[in-house]
Amino acid sequence: MSYRNVSKEALVGSLALGVVFAAGYFLGKKKLFRMSISKSHCGGKDNPLMQYVLNHSLREHPVLKNLRLRTMEDSWNIMMVACEQAQFMANLAKLIQAKKALEIGVYTGYNTLSMALALPEDGVVVACDISEEYTNIGKPFWKEAGVEHKIDLHIQPALKTLDDLLSSGQAETFDFVFIDADKVNYDNYYERSLLLLRKGGIIAVDNVLWGGRVLNPSPSDADTVAIDKLNKKLHRDIRVTLSMLTVGDGLTLAVKL
Ligand code: SAM
Ligand code: CA
Repeated sequence: MSYRNVSKEALVGSLALGVVFAAGYFLGKKKLFRMSISKSHCGGKDNPLMQYVLNHSLREHPVLKNLRLRTMEDSWNIMMVACEQAQFMANLAKLIQAKKALEIGVYTGYNTLSMALALPEDGVVVACDISEEYTNIGKPFWKEAGVEHKIDLHIQPALKTLDDLLSSGQAETFDFVFIDADKVNYDNYYERSLLLLRKGGIIAVDNVLWGGRVLNPSPSDADTVAIDKLNKKLHRDIRVTLSMLTVGDGLTLAVKL
């Protein structure tokens, strides 16, 4: 049946329905996007229980808060670590009396700054990223917080930095590693991190749930396949003790034996 045979009213009605449906779809998407942002960062507006958790536990340094607000102006802000997760990892670093940390994937440096604030005066965060654009956003905040001397930023592929650290004799000297860069290299980052880590040191692997996509990885989705493969490998890895937490987008903690 051609549209010529349909009454004008029916056509207008269908078009109106289509517009309403499309608007609903996009508004719905926008809401989902907003929810995932608020979940991934420091807001609990859409989730009163999460808001309660943040209200009763978050102790965000004022400069960290300003860096978070500046990061929210960037179009890639969804990449920023959840702030309650950054605080948790800073607590872990303190617990194991970490002095030397490695951040693989810096973005605007929220977690880098959080970690630098947690380390002692002679501590260091070796920070790896390929983007000057993103890391330049964070640098003034690192300075303002008085910890820029604790942050050693390397702008080049993280694998190269890790290999440089290994060849300069820094194996078994790191206390804490946060893996949060390109997902296809996660296993490479994990293996090198394990070499760089001292016994009792912690590797934290971010985004291990990947928005739920790990439940049904599509073979054409290289990121999900890489994350799921590492998750399965870590479950069997007798070189570490293990926990997979549902904080943020999923965080695995592997403690080197
Ligand atoms: N950990 C950060 C935080 O606390 O907000 C978020 C990191 S963000 C999810 C991932 C970062 O990895 C981006 O800044 C990106 O430029 C960086 N990246 C991507 N591929 C990389 C590579 N091969 N080597 C180093 N960094 C890389
Ligand atoms: Ca992440």
